[in-house]
Amino acid sequence: MHTIDSLLANNRAFVRAQLAHDAAFFEHLAEGQHPDFLWIGCSDSRVSPNLLTGTGPGEMFVHRNIANLVVPTDMNLLAVLQYAVEVLQVNHVIVCGHHGCGGVKAALGGHSHGLVDHWLHAVRETEQFHHARLAALDDETRLRHLVELNVIEQVHNLGKTSIVQRAWAARRRPFIHGWVFDIGTGGIDPLTRMISNDEELLEACKFHRAGLGPAAAAPARPPQAQPAAQAGHASPAPRAGVAP
Ligand SMILES: [Zn+2]
Repeated sequence: MHTIDSLLANNRAFVRAQLAHDAAFFEHLAEGQHPDFLWIGCSDSRVSPNLLTGTGPGEMFVHRNIANLVVPTDMNLLAVLQYAVEVLQVNHVIVCGHHGCGGVKAALGGHSHGLVDHWLHAVRETEQFHHARLAALDDETRLRHLVELNVIEQVHNLGKTSIVQRAWAARRRPFIHGWVFDIGTGGIDPLTRMISNDEELLEACKFHRAGLGPAAAAPARPPQAQPAAQAGHASPAPRAGVAP
């Protein structure tokens, strides 16, 4: 178990080790950043983007929140996204969820967790939309599927932001990606192909009614989510492996 003092001691050791390896490491780092990736992930302490992807300081711009949500009214997310896409001109934006996500699990349960319940509203909407299909699954499988459906939903929200739409029109970048990290194995599984236009976004987020089974009787999306449907988004679509 670390302590506050051990964190600072670790930092001093880190500085020594870096300088021993490269005496100009921090001088170069201070010159500026040119990351090619924006990572939108969960705040979960086990999901460390640089560690998982082998990237170092300066290589990945990061935004994290509980359950890796892309909420179109979240000024924090929008500011990060705008700066990453328009100023840093990252070529890739990754939405990465993770199995065992406490935020998604909380949205599945009927218990109150305080203020965070408001934040997780979007996850509950996704669960409601797929409720008939998810309800037929055992608890563990249901959570895994909702984690993946949530990633697809956030990819859709990301692609529909004016920031990404403008960037696609101007330079056909960034590519956006939906990934899921499995804490139990350490592996990352891509859930979407690389997406850089509305057609690819629609394909990645299409609701394949033919493969639904019990979800054919799924309730309609609540009224507050209708603008997405009007914009051509029928529903999040799982990759083949997501379907129960
Ligand atoms: Zn999480």
